[in-house]
Amino acid sequence: MQFVSTRGQSPAVGLSAAIAAGLAPDGGLYVPEMLPAARELREGAALADTAADLLAPFFAGDALESALPSICREAFDFPVPLRPLGNGDHVLELFHGPTAAFKDIGARFLAGTLSRLQAGKDQDLTIVVATSGDTGAAVAAAFHRQPGVRVVVLYPEGRVSPRQAHQLGCFGDNILALRVAGAFDDCQAMVKQALADRELQAQMPLSSANSISLGRLLPQMSYYAHAALTHHAHTRRRLNLVVPTGNLGNAMAAVLARALGVPIGQIALATNANAVLPAYFNGSDYRPQPSVATVANAMDVGAPSNFERLRWLYHGDDAELRAAFRAFAVDDVSIRATIAAAHASRGELFCPHTATAVKVLQDLRARGAKGDWAVVATAHPAKFEAVVEPLIGEAVAVPPALDALLRRPAHAEPMAADYAALREVLLR
Ligand SMILES: *Cc1c(COP(=O)(O)O)cnc(C)c1O
Repeated sequence: MQFVSTRGQSPAVGLSAAIAAGLAPDGGLYVPEMLPAARELREGAALADTAADLLAPFFAGDALESALPSICREAFDFPVPLRPLGNGDHVLELFHGPTAAFKDIGARFLAGTLSRLQAGKDQDLTIVVATSGDTGAAVAAAFHRQPGVRVVVLYPEGRVSPRQAHQLGCFGDNILALRVAGAFDDCQAMVKQALADRELQAQMPLSSANSISLGRLLPQMSYYAHAALTHHAHTRRRLNLVVPTGNLGNAMAAVLARALGVPIGQIALATNANAVLPAYFNGSDYRPQPSVATVANAMDVGAPSNFERLRWLYHGDDAELRAAFRAFAVDDVSIRATIAAAHASRGELFCPHTATAVKVLQDLRARGAKGDWAVVATAHPAKFEAVVEPLIGEAVAVPPALDALLRRPAHAEPMAADYAALREVLLR
């Protein structure tokens, strides 16, 4: 399969080239030249096998084609349970990986592809990544001590939780953490600038691992496919989803999976107070905004990068796109109230991001939504203990993988929100 840019000004390339490049040369995002036809997918297969099945058409004809099953086995080696809550509600738990957030899955798959593409090359590959919290840790964990790869992570100082900051700085070796005096959008803009800097690229091969990367986006379809197929096997019903949304990478994967024939019903987007998407889906123009800080900080995004892909999928037809989704914003007061109430009434623990989806599902049910729904749980609550613990009045037990990271010493370098400063660090 060939991949083209959402902006239509770049030549078509194969999958390996699209993954290695991150961003297309015209500044657009890579998308498949055409979507594979919807297929019969096997129900009851293991997650790694469902992933290999679903992703096979995208890998067809590429240098990585024969490695796909092993990349899937390596990336999907932890459970992704769909846990019933009763009355047709479920939680799709994506946080059982090494850094306790869903981004582990895409990051590990990307590391599997890039490390194979890097084998035998004499120059190291530098991966620059902007993070509002969880991406950087997942990418750092996935690439830590991988030969031939260096990772430079930029995060907005003071805008990530203390445990997130610790996770970003605790790897060392081939991982460099930079704490930037700015917002996430500044970090993201600097990374985009580096990836578009031809002079820099001539001196050092650069790639990204942000949610624009196809190597992260595509594998994220797998857990939706596995959950929806398993659910369908038992009930013959489609699974509807509420996806906590920032850059739209996770939700975009659900949309693609549905387009490929996975039995997913409605997809509702839950944002925090950064309400660019809810405004758009309610009929306003698409208007990116500076991000505002919230308690669901991994979703503090004012310019959702995958929106370009969503528009591509709907042929730029805003009316058709608006008809296909609903999106709702949840403010910090409601996020906190949802976490406290779920714990008090049912002993359930949710991270602030997951809580946005829980609140949206509660509102949909209150307005009569029928059928089976899953809220997508994107992080373990122990990663956001500073928000969660005061609300529930007790400590959240830390999962063992996260605990091991928190015991390592951590260090991050300070940096100005200025592209020249980043360039200097990259070149040194
Ligand atoms: C990144 C992240 C999100 C948002 O995912 P997008 O793909 O950027 O929409 C939601 N929750 C958590 C915990 C995250 O780390």
